[in-house]
Formats: sequence, C-alpha cells, structure tokens
Amino acid sequence: MKEADGTPPESKQDVQAVSAGAPDIVPGTPMTATDFDLSREIRFNVDTGLTVFRNSRLVIFDANAIGLLRQNLIETLGYPKARAFLLRFGYQNGYSDFLQMKLNYEFATEMDLLASGPVIHTYEGIVQATPREIQFDRKTGEFYFTGVWTNSYEAEQNLSFNHHADEPVCWTLMGYASGWCTAFFGSPLLAIEPLCVGKGDDHCEWKIQPPEKWGAKGEKYAEALSDFWEVLKA
Ligand SMILES: [Zn+2]
Repeated sequence: MKEADGTPPESKQDVQAVSAGAPDIVPGTPMTATDFDLSREIRFNVDTGLTVFRNSRLVIFDANAIGLLRQNLIETLGYPKARAFLLRFGYQNGYSDFLQMKLNYEFATEMDLLASGPVIHTYEGIVQATPREIQFDRKTGEFYFTGVWTNSYEAEQNLSFNHHADEPVCWTLMGYASGWCTAFFGSPLLAIEPLCVGKGDDHCEWKIQPPEKWGAKGEKYAEALSDFWEVLKA
C-alpha cells in the first residue's frame, strides 16, 4: 500500500533491507526485469516514520485488515461500487509504482521495463506474478500481456468471507496491472482475470489488452477507470 509523492527521508539512520534475491546491480549497467529487487530499494526511517520507495511513501498493513476493509466495502456499498473503488485503488498503486520504476531505473529494453511490473507486484506481497506472453506495438496500438497469478492475497481474503463468486474477485490486482500497463503504454489498457481462485479456479490468470478488445465483458471495469483514461487523452 502506498501514497504517491512522499518525501524521501535523508537521515543517516535510514536502514536498507538486505536481500539474497536478485544479483547486484552494477551502476551504469541497464537492468533486466528480474534484476530489480524491491527489498534493496525500500528505506525505513524510525526517526520520521517515513518508509519510502524512491519518491513514493509506503505504508504496511496486515492483509487481514485490508481484507476486512474490503469486505466492509462490499457489505456496505454492494459488489458494483466496492469493485469500482478497489479497481481504482489498485490502478493508482500500479500507476505510481510504474512512474517510480521509469524515473529511477535504467532497463536494458522496454520489454524489461514492462516486465518489471510483475516483479515488483510480487515483492510487495500482493501476489506471485509470472508473465506468460507479451506483445506490443506502439505504432499499431496492439498490446497483449498474459500471465499467472498465484497466492493472490485478494482471492484469499474474498474466500475467507464469501462463497465462490461468479466473476473474478482480484480487483486491486486487476487495477494494479491496468494502471501499470496504461502508464507504460500511454493509452488505456484493461486487465481482467479469465481465471480466478475467487470464482473456483485453481489459480488466477491475467490478460491485459485495450478496453475495446474486451467488448461487453470489459464495460463495468472500463467505466470505473474511465476518468483516469480521459486524462490521458487531454
Ligand atoms: Zn484472482
């Protein structure tokens, strides 16, 4: 969870997490997607209470607390409004993360920059994200990105309160992937789960493409994100 535009602390007591994950980055050498290691990039500061990833302030919440908030939204507002709010919440998160990644790191290829999205999403503890197929062409506007999500916190939380749904339930993840890819591509992109543990599938899968490619299936999601996308056209 995070809030954009936090100010990075500059205390000498900043603590950098240690990781045995990705290889060391050599300054000046462009990264591949999997070189990125969020545990090396987060700064904790007990003097100020500001935990940051570059220019984004991060706040850490227990997944059960987020799950309770989510369930209260569903029970108070109903599925359609709760879905829209959580999609938008995820979208802002993915969009903000992308900007930090784009502004602060040099990737070997555009594909690596795009594919670093599932990497940071995984480090954040939201889901384990494994890309499967990526195709895009900025000239034609073609964009297609699929992959597998396992251990989605949101599917787990939904199932802890509800029976299997008749639609995908990982709304913050779908929003995150939509925001990340829209920020990357500069035009609207919508992620929907063809498979979701929350509706009884054994794993979740994502598919991201322009909203018009989804047809009627994408309408309720596209409507929730429409004002974000209007800004892109301005
Ligand atoms: Zn799911």
